[in-house]
Amino acid sequence: MDISPHTQGGGLVDRFDRVATDLRVSLTDRCNLRCEYCMPPEGLEWMPTDEVLTDDEVCRLIAIAVQHLGVTEVRFTGGEPLVRRGLVDIVRRTTALEPRPKTALTTNALGLHRTAGALREAGLDRVNASLDTIRPETFAQITLRDRLGDVLRGLEAAKEHGLTPVKINAVLLRGVNDGQAAELLRWAIDHDYELRFIEQMPLDAQHHWRRDTMVTADEIFGHLEGEFVLTPADEDRGSAPAERFLVDGGPATVGVIASVTRPFCGDCDRVRLTADGQVRNCLFAREESDLRTPLRDGADDAEIAARWRAAVASKRPGHGIDNPKFLQPTRPMSAIGG
Ligand code: SAM
Ligand code: SF4
Repeated sequence: MDISPHTQGGGLVDRFDRVATDLRVSLTDRCNLRCEYCMPPEGLEWMPTDEVLTDDEVCRLIAIAVQHLGVTEVRFTGGEPLVRRGLVDIVRRTTALEPRPKTALTTNALGLHRTAGALREAGLDRVNASLDTIRPETFAQITLRDRLGDVLRGLEAAKEHGLTPVKINAVLLRGVNDGQAAELLRWAIDHDYELRFIEQMPLDAQHHWRRDTMVTADEIFGHLEGEFVLTPADEDRGSAPAERFLVDGGPATVGVIASVTRPFCGDCDRVRLTADGQVRNCLFAREESDLRTPLRDGADDAEIAARWRAAVASKRPGHGIDNPKFLQPTRPMSAIGG
């Protein structure tokens, strides 16, 4: 591994020689939508405020990751990161770091039309937004909120302010929006958004996910291939989770993130920090490593970096969803950071 001056003491390397350089920072577990595959209609018991890292604490941990641990990309997520009041300032402080990490935001885009300009000005590079349908009634059915128009305004604003390429993540649910895959792709291409379908994962708070009813990557291809010709877009996708395809010869592409049926754990370069200061070395990890306590107890950067390295070193080789002994993590996706 290349040891730069920024990774003295070592980067985030695990026992299988994978190096984590992509940090996903969850800024809140709260959300203003209730996507069926993520959160129950009544919401969840939110993290107590005193357990959530302050803006200064989040920025300190990001600085340690970038300056001591070789992290080169920081993605802000949640819950819904746009509901975090300090978001723009956190982005500004992150993009001011040396070396400057790439930055992105994963959002449901509600209210993005108001903040896209400030986020761009703070240095944010890109936005990934979630959108599973372009039909208002299906949107309301999936998210339990009648807000499709606001999401579409948010996406337009992201594009206008150069937070591009704007990528759209879509989850297909059987009998709900799986028949709309081609329609969504056509719309995304017409609006210059890069669409990626994500297989539904066992990370919903309700534990309703079932392997035998989830919509698989093969089925997604089936839905698309009736209307489009798809050809592989990348010879080697590296650590990117999405398999990308040229649509009708390109230049438009579509991605499929087949976390369940075609896992890519062997190439994973991600590590996660929850809003309450726990490092998770995998979305599906059953253990977490607490950085908040040492941080609040006055630990110096070197000690926190050492704890972070140890947390990543023990990463398992894969998530094992297809193993009969698989156990869903205790925290749902919204509290981990997707
Ligand atoms: N609220 C933001 C959003 O929706 O983009 C950020 C957090 S959300 C948890 C991040 C991503 O996780 C979204 O693209 C969402 O579609 C996806 N997601 C949530 N639950 C999922 C599940 N059970 N399986 C697959 N993807 C899921
Ligand atoms: Fe909220 Fe994102 Fe979960 Fe939907 S997927 S409920 S927008 S956190």
